[in-house]
Amino acid sequence: MLFDTHTHTTFSTDSRMTFAEAEQAARERNLGIIITEHMDLAYPEPEAFTFNVDDYFAAYGAHRSDALLLGIEIGMRDDCVDANREIVAKHPFDFVIGSIHVVENIDIYQGSFYHTRTKEEVYHQYFNSMIVCLEQYDFIDSLGHIDYICRYAQFDDPELYFFDFQTDIDLVLSQLAQRDQAIEINTRRLYLPDSKEALLPVYHRFRELGGRFVTIGSDAHKAKDIGKGLDLAMEMAETCGLTPVYYKERKPIRLTL
Ligand SMILES: [Zn+2]
Ligand SMILES: [Zn+2]
Repeated sequence: MLFDTHTHTTFSTDSRMTFAEAEQAARERNLGIIITEHMDLAYPEPEAFTFNVDDYFAAYGAHRSDALLLGIEIGMRDDCVDANREIVAKHPFDFVIGSIHVVENIDIYQGSFYHTRTKEEVYHQYFNSMIVCLEQYDFIDSLGHIDYICRYAQFDDPELYFFDFQTDIDLVLSQLAQRDQAIEINTRRLYLPDSKEALLPVYHRFRELGGRFVTIGSDAHKAKDIGKGLDLAMEMAETCGLTPVYYKERKPIRLTL
């Protein structure tokens, strides 16, 4: 069974997809699903992008099954590592994604993050926060959407080209490989004309540096997007010699078609 390992329902500040809609969409498409709600502690807007984890398990726990697992997407920052570590330690998550959404206290979704600086400067800063966080976030299972910044960057060509940022990306990938953590192939941008080709060398390099596992997720915030692009991501994993997995009770399980 294929698994969509990255989805958001109403416990995520930016999603209105109900649990029932997510569950139904996964069932109709014959997919397993992991719900990974947003937890961005110290988010610049108070209370946004956090949720009550006890309420989450109380609401969804009874529906957990081999095909429906409960995870979390942690927004990594270097000023709340211990608080995030405690959240993960205290709750029985199946899967923990670590993502960079905020750099220097600005959500990189915001246009102001890009004003007055070059793409080189901004992307270097983005990777630098990722590296600093990954050194400390030894309790995440998979690094979410390494290409997140390309969704919002206000440059003529926001695409992430491995050879432009190899020094930074190598540090990210070797840190993950060293701890046998996974990297995600986030399918959101794979339909864009150049993105799949541009991202392939990143995943090839992960394998070269000793990485083994990829998780595959749509980052769906709507039922229609659940499972979208998983086939493209499976092809990418195979091309790069990486093993696609999902996590149950924090352990990787190989995905099969
Ligand atoms: Zn994210
Ligand atoms: Zn997400």
